[in-house]
Amino acid sequence: MKYIGAHVSTTGGVENAPLNANTIGAKAFALFTRNQRQWKSAPLTEKSITLFKTRCKEFGYETKHILPHDSYLINLGHPEAEGLQKSREAFLDEMQRCEQLGLDRLNFHPGSHLNQISEEECLTRIADSVNWALSQTKGVCAVLENTAGQGTNLGFRFEQLAYIIDKVEDKSRIGICIDTAHTLAAGYNIRTKESFEETFRHFNDVIGFSYLRGMHINDSKKELSTHVDRHDSIGKGVMGMTTFQLLMDDPRFDDIPLILETPDETLWAEEITKLYSM
Ligand SMILES: [Zn+2]
Ligand SMILES: [Zn+2]
Repeated sequence: MKYIGAHVSTTGGVENAPLNANTIGAKAFALFTRNQRQWKSAPLTEKSITLFKTRCKEFGYETKHILPHDSYLINLGHPEAEGLQKSREAFLDEMQRCEQLGLDRLNFHPGSHLNQISEEECLTRIADSVNWALSQTKGVCAVLENTAGQGTNLGFRFEQLAYIIDKVEDKSRIGICIDTAHTLAAGYNIRTKESFEETFRHFNDVIGFSYLRGMHINDSKKELSTHVDRHDSIGKGVMGMTTFQLLMDDPRFDDIPLILETPDETLWAEEITKLYSM
């Protein structure tokens, strides 16, 4: 069974995420547990935490179908000591918020070398950061997202993600989230049956489906191998509907959160219905 949802708003508090997800007919959802564009955020209140849990239960959202996303400011592979420390502390705070909310995974972008250190040094730094955060928390899996490879962002090749996983000590607490738009922009053509099968065969060989903890289901405004991250609404970009049909038909994508991060939120309910009808 497929669990499709969207990255919903938490305006007014995290407890509004399950409400917003239910309104659009989502069976899964993603959320920010703090302001994603600021370094500091007020701690979650007991009231928010309790209400979040009650509403998840009320609307039938299981933990494994909820995929929190971390702040865009965090760079766990930061080349400079100060930036790295700041990022690690913010990431730890995000993990602790997940613990408080009873969530079992946290989706994050691997990191950027900013042209100051080598790719390998940056990837090693990311793994060290993950080990550091995991050692201070319990039960939350760090979920690496594949990127489009924009700027100096790493994680756009499956081999880079595998390199990080290899250096993480607790393999049960490291996972992967695949974003369809990033995958295409990174140079993996997933638009035909053959190329889709080939890409995911390669993914399975290099990383393994056992690490897959979620997907971002987005169309892309940008073409194959452009390394530019611009999401589009389902069916409106350059992806084509074949990709989404193949995903919906494939049991390897069952029972994980499949999250829309498409730009027009007024279309989310319609997009969810469309995907389920495929
Ligand atoms: Zn993301
Ligand atoms: Zn993106």
